[in-house]
Amino acid sequence: MANRVAQVLRAGRCDDQVEEISHSVEDKLEEMFSTIRQSKHPDIQIGPHCDDPYTCPLHDMCWRFLPQHSVLDLTRGTKKGFGLLDRVSRVCGIFPMASS
Ligand code: SF4
Repeated sequence: MANRVAQVLRAGRCDDQVEEISHSVEDKLEEMFSTIRQSKHPDIQIGPHCDDPYTCPLHDMCWRFLPQHSVLDLTRGTKKGFGLLDRVSRVCGIFPMASS
């Protein structure tokens, strides 16, 4: 078991990497708190960011306007699919996030 753990984990110092990342964490936290304090949600449409790096807990709510089969199925959720969805939304006057 210890051998297996040692295979997965590699011991070593990573102070420099942590130091480098810690500065960006502070900036990100301030950005997040600023967003949380807003009285209205950000005007952002659904996209690949909803599942990257993990599935957002609001996924079902934000994506519920989509029909069972949509352009995202045709394009397997690629950038092209979201571009088409954005164009269709604009033409039809549908702005999912603004009305939720
Ligand atoms: S599911 Fe909604 S709240 Fe979550 S990342 Fe996507 S658009 Fe933003």
